[in-house]
Amino acid sequence: MRIGAHLDSADPLAGAAARSADVVQFFLSDPQGWASPETRPDAADLRDSDVDVFIHAPYVINVATLNNRIRIPSRKLLMAHASVAADLGARGLIVHGGHVNKGDDIAKGFDNWRKTFAYAAESGGFATRILIENTAGGDNACARRFDALARLWDAIGAYEVGFCLDTCHAYAGGEELLGIVERVKAITGRIDLIHANDSRDTFNSGRDRHTNLGQGTIDPDLLVAVIRAAGCPAVVETPGGVEGQAADIALLRERL
Ligand SMILES: [Zn+2]
Repeated sequence: MRIGAHLDSADPLAGAAARSADVVQFFLSDPQGWASPETRPDAADLRDSDVDVFIHAPYVINVATLNNRIRIPSRKLLMAHASVAADLGARGLIVHGGHVNKGDDIAKGFDNWRKTFAYAAESGGFATRILIENTAGGDNACARRFDALARLWDAIGAYEVGFCLDTCHAYAGGEELLGIVERVKAITGRIDLIHANDSRDTFNSGRDRHTNLGQGTIDPDLLVAVIRAAGCPAVVETPGGVEGQAADIALLRERL
């Protein structure tokens, strides 16, 4: 199995070497901002490297919302990220499932997702495969609970779209980890990437606080079993810098 980490975007390949990672994930721009991503001077190195590259889209993106002033720039920023990610040879662009505001009809949120892909298709589709990630919190989320995820996939499953399963988000979001890979695949048909994170908070807390494997509230045996069952690349998004993440990667290599 290919295992790696979410790390600083300054020098992802050096970061991979320091952690003995086969996979890197990083941001192309400030995750809390709306700046367009820029092409990178190390694009050819990333493309030619035998490290797998995944890009995480900014957190501000919400293509589901009924608020035009968020949804339209979200769609554009996602397109721009997909183009730059393709230049790096990225295997996927991870974006959170998003949500609608309180009182808004979530059916419109799913349809806004469909329109996102429909509009992209008019200009040849996303240059990098979009991997929609499950999220931990909120009552109006498109990809927290799997009943919502199933409705989302009804709307977008016909497009080239993948799925990223975050173990912390699933657990804190209230989805049991036992048998979760089968339940996801029954909906999406695929899992492209695992975010292998322990949770600082309890089951169904709705809180999104990652921690190092074995340090949180998730049974480590269950965590390993989920990652093994998924059979796809895994990325730790855990604290502790090089040391903390290298230990998580080593633990997974040993246990898998
Ligand atoms: Zn994640």
